[in-house]
Amino acid sequence: MPLKIGKVTIGGDAPIVVQSMTKTDTRDIPATINQIKELEDCGCEIVRVAVPDNEAANSLASIKRSVSLPLIADIHFDYRLALTALRAGVDGLRLNPGNIGDREQIAIVVAAAKEKKVPVRIGVNAGSLPANFQTNAPLAERMVNTALEQIRLMESLNFDLIKVSLKAFDVLTTIQAYQMIADKTPYPLHLGVTEAGLPQTGAIRSAVGIGILLHQGIGDTIRVSLSAHPCEEVLVAYEILKSLGLRQRGPTLVSCPSCGRAEVDIIALAEAVSNRLEKIRKPIKVAIMGCVVNGPGEARDADVGIACGKGKGAIFRKGEVVSTASEDRFLEAIMAEINSLDSRGLE
Ligand code: SF4
Repeated sequence: MPLKIGKVTIGGDAPIVVQSMTKTDTRDIPATINQIKELEDCGCEIVRVAVPDNEAANSLASIKRSVSLPLIADIHFDYRLALTALRAGVDGLRLNPGNIGDREQIAIVVAAAKEKKVPVRIGVNAGSLPANFQTNAPLAERMVNTALEQIRLMESLNFDLIKVSLKAFDVLTTIQAYQMIADKTPYPLHLGVTEAGLPQTGAIRSAVGIGILLHQGIGDTIRVSLSAHPCEEVLVAYEILKSLGLRQRGPTLVSCPSCGRAEVDIIALAEAVSNRLEKIRKPIKVAIMGCVVNGPGEARDADVGIACGKGKGAIFRKGEVVSTASEDRFLEAIMAEINSLDSRGLE
C-alpha cells in the first residue's frame, strides 16, 4: 500500500527510499536548514528532524519553507508537538507508541494528519516499549504486538496512511521483528538498526540487518543510524542498496586489497581516487588494481580502471587496456579518464 511523503513515494513498486535525520538542534533554524541542504546534496531523499519541545516545533514552519526535501517530524511524549508540526506543514510524522499511546491523544493527531493527508510512522523502538506490555513475551514479539496494537487503533479511526518501523540495537531481534510483521500488515516498512554505533561497526551492523531484510523483499525505506555526520548514513545506505542491485547512485570503487605482487601503494591511490569520486554523480564503476597480471581481468566489468606495475600503470576501459601512465601521473590519468566518461556519458 504505497504512500507519499511530500513528492516521494514509499512502498509498492517504488524504489527503496533513503532517509536520514538531522543532528543539529532543531531550534537552531539556520544550522538545521544547512544540514538538510547538505543531506539533499549527498542524495538523501527524506529528512527527519527531532522535535523535543515547543520551540523546536515552532521552528518547523521556517525550516519547511527553506528546504525542498520532504520533512518528517519526530515526536515523542507530547502529542501536541505533532499538532504544531502538522500546522507547520511537515510531510510526515513519526510517533513512538512507547510514549504516546493514549487513545484520545492518538485520535486527535490522526484526525489532524488525515485532514492534511500526512502519513504517520508507527516508530517502535526496542528501548522504549510501553511499560507493563506483555513483559514475558520475547522482545521481537513485544515490538510487533506494540505496532499491531497501534495499527488497529489507527485503523479503527479510519486512518491508513501508515508506515511502520521496529528498530532494535540487536540485529537478530530487528530481523525477527520485521519478518514477523511483514506478513501481518500491508503498510510500508521503514527499516533500520538503531543506535548502530560508529561508522565502521555501525555500517556493518546496518548492512547485515537491513541487507538481509531487503534481500527477502522486506522494507520500503531505510535509515542507517550512525554516530557520524548524517551524510555518512546516506553513503552507507546507498552502498547497501547498490550491493543488492536495488539502486544505482554515484560511482562504485573496486580496489584490490593489494598483496606481495603490488609495486605501488594501492591503498593510498585508492583513497585518493575515492576522495575525488565524491564529486561524480554518475554510476561509474572504477577499478584500482595492484598489478597488470590480474588487474584488468579481475575488474573486467569496471567502466574505467588502472592496473599498476613498476613505475607505470595500464589504464583500462571495460577490461581492455587503452593507454599507459607513469607512476607520478596515476591519479591524474585515471581522473582524466573518469571525467571524460562522466561528461560523455556511459556507453
Ligand atoms: S590485483 Fe594484483 S596486486 Fe592486487 S591483490 Fe590481485 S594479485 Fe595482488
